[in-house]
Amino acid sequence: MVRYLFVQTDKKLETAIKRYSMRASMAVPDLPRQTEVVVIGGGCMGASIAFHLARRDVDVVLLEKGHIASGATGHSGALVRQHYESRVGIRLARKSLEFFQRFRKETGFSCDFRTTGFLSGTRERDLPAFEALFELLRSQGVKAERLTPSDAKGMEPQLDVSDYEALVHDPDAGYADPIATARGFAEAAAVQGARVLDHHAVSSIGTRSGRVTGVKVRGEGALSCERVVVAAGNWTRDFLASLGPPLPVRYVRGDVAILRRPGDFGPPPKIHFDFYGNTYSRPDGEKDTLCGYMDTDPKKAARSHELVETLPAATARDLRARLAKRFPRMAEAQPRGGWSGAYDVTPDSYPILDRFGPEGLFVAVGFSGHGFKLSPEVGRLLGEFVATGRRPEALEPLRVSRFDEGQLVQPDAPFPGRRRRRLP
Ligand SMILES: Cc1cc2nc3c(=O)[nH]c(=O)nc-3n(C[C@H](O)[C@H](O)[C@H](O)COP(=O)(O)OP(=O)(O)OC[C@H]3O[C@@H](n4cnc5c(N)ncnc54)[C@H](O)[C@@H]3O)c2cc1C
Repeated sequence: MVRYLFVQTDKKLETAIKRYSMRASMAVPDLPRQTEVVVIGGGCMGASIAFHLARRDVDVVLLEKGHIASGATGHSGALVRQHYESRVGIRLARKSLEFFQRFRKETGFSCDFRTTGFLSGTRERDLPAFEALFELLRSQGVKAERLTPSDAKGMEPQLDVSDYEALVHDPDAGYADPIATARGFAEAAAVQGARVLDHHAVSSIGTRSGRVTGVKVRGEGALSCERVVVAAGNWTRDFLASLGPPLPVRYVRGDVAILRRPGDFGPPPKIHFDFYGNTYSRPDGEKDTLCGYMDTDPKKAARSHELVETLPAATARDLRARLAKRFPRMAEAQPRGGWSGAYDVTPDSYPILDRFGPEGLFVAVGFSGHGFKLSPEVGRLLGEFVATGRRPEALEPLRVSRFDEGQLVQPDAPFPGRRRRRLP
């Protein structure tokens, strides 16, 4: 397994990390023959789930076919915001944000979380929906502030607020390094006793009499276990096709452009959601801005879920032109590349976190472009479910049967209006 830099915090954790580092420098762990739980997929989800299980003293093996964070996680915009339209989403996001703020203390590693603040505005016609969403956020414990356009202009001088009637500001939002986050969780899981093996692809899950018996690892043979958690991102749906009913997940393309701000732009801007110009943006370090499309056209559902480490020049130019409508100085921003990937989207844009198929099998899929920011709390809740066998109440609305029961997660305060959309 790859070794990572880490930052120690308290004494007990420091000693555990030191002991682990000595063990790790002596030998790369072999594939064991037996364990309690296998987690498939070393993205932010699988790594978080493995960490939370190991923390509960569950014997766990995390298997990743490439390197840690090589899937959607390594391609994530990694925005961490709480601006959701349903209580279910706000709760998961709020708890996860709290974890990001104390990531180092919890895990002993850094996820490089940076607080930027979040701004988003409303035009006059959408003011009632804006007020309802603002009240919902406040009622759920988000420290959202209501700003006039001139307040916002004082806070974000480069922002064009001329069409906005009001804005919401969440001072706690920010972004993290998605690769450091997944690695931090994986390494912290290993410190707690988990065995983390990258370059180990699971080819199948074994079952007998309706129960999970173990997994087969390509080129390595079998590993028997009592429970398996599949957190294989965009590979999950097809991987599980023979073990249960089809999962209602489709792939929708997401593009990300990196734009160098003009030298006289001023201090890095906050995260901004422009519902009217269809962009989300955040600073990326001191000089660049990361920008993507906020609203994804469902007609653009893609067949494949390829991750591409480049971006067509026309897409980068379109994103820059849209962003320049909100931040006029960005018309002179220099495109510096970008990438694209696919979101694993469900019919209500909320994940499926549940048992699935044979006894002992669990699934975490369908994060619909929100997965990074939710990974700490999803890992904690799913860890509890897998370890105890009892579904935490917070996971009830995210059961797989909700689609057949017609109990999809609904927005409590849709903004703007009732139009369905998918957000990063
Ligand atoms: C362009 C883009 C921008 C995004 N921006 C944001 C954002 O700003 N904020 C946010 O919250 N979310 C964002 N997301 C969504 C977020 O990145 C994902 O929801 C999240 O990373 C999903 O994590 P995961 O662990 O489920 O999947 P992944 O990161 O894809 O991890 C799954 C892993 O499973 C491994 N795997 C697959 N099959 C096997 C197998 N058979 N055996 C072993 N390993 C296997 C893969 O190699 C992969 O590493 C974005 C996504 C994209 C594509």
